[in-house]
Amino acid sequence: MLAPLVRQFPCLDDNYAFLVHDPQTGETAAIDTPDADAILKELDAAGWRLSAIWNTHWHADHAGGNAALKAATGAQIIGPAEIARLGSAPDVIVAGGDHVLLGAHRAEVLAVGGHTLGHIAFHFREAHMAFVGDALFALGCGRMFEGDPAQMWASLERLAALPDDTAIYCAHEYTAANARFALAMDADNPTLQARAEAITKLRALGLPTIPTRIGLERATNPFLRAPALKAKLGVAQDVDAFAELRRRKDHFKG
Ligand code: ZN
Ligand code: FE
Repeated sequence: MLAPLVRQFPCLDDNYAFLVHDPQTGETAAIDTPDADAILKELDAAGWRLSAIWNTHWHADHAGGNAALKAATGAQIIGPAEIARLGSAPDVIVAGGDHVLLGAHRAEVLAVGGHTLGHIAFHFREAHMAFVGDALFALGCGRMFEGDPAQMWASLERLAALPDDTAIYCAHEYTAANARFALAMDADNPTLQARAEAITKLRALGLPTIPTRIGLERATNPFLRAPALKAKLGVAQDVDAFAELRRRKDHFKG
């Protein structure tokens, strides 16, 4: 079985859009729809026909292009029930524990709520890749708009448990700013220091830092390192360390 192909491209201010294509069947899924016009152009350039939209969560920079793309292509919308808040209800509602298919490629749906309720990620176990929306970023995580710390920490632990070499496709290029916060929280981490230098070089060249790998995130992302940082933060529980880090990031002036 040929591995699925991914096309990643920048959209809006700092979003990435992703097209995943199965060369065997020709099926193509857009992971979120930040900008319908940009996605249609990319489909055209690739010579791919859109068969499905897979949404991670209901925010406008993730589902705002659903209606226009569906009208233009007839694509089926698959996502959490909350997508209906933007006016285009999913054709198929999925939640953690479900799976979706792109041709013969199976993606497991992971519940990663916290940034929003109902936020999901899509994990292609065979292809070693996961599309995580705004649940996890390179060196960061989404703001906790709708969930609570216990829920969001459980979501991050679920992602952290994926195999080390899993490519993580995050929906925003926030890495350089996240690196400044990570260094402030975890200054003595040599792996983080080296990574921060590499990020500076990539961004100076205008290159993306996405996808990342979950093994690298586990070693350097301060949110995934909450258990290692809890003594420094003066708390006893992992979840409290996560909550404290999230609170500090919300107020960080880097
Ligand atoms: Zn969002
Ligand atoms: Fe977003």
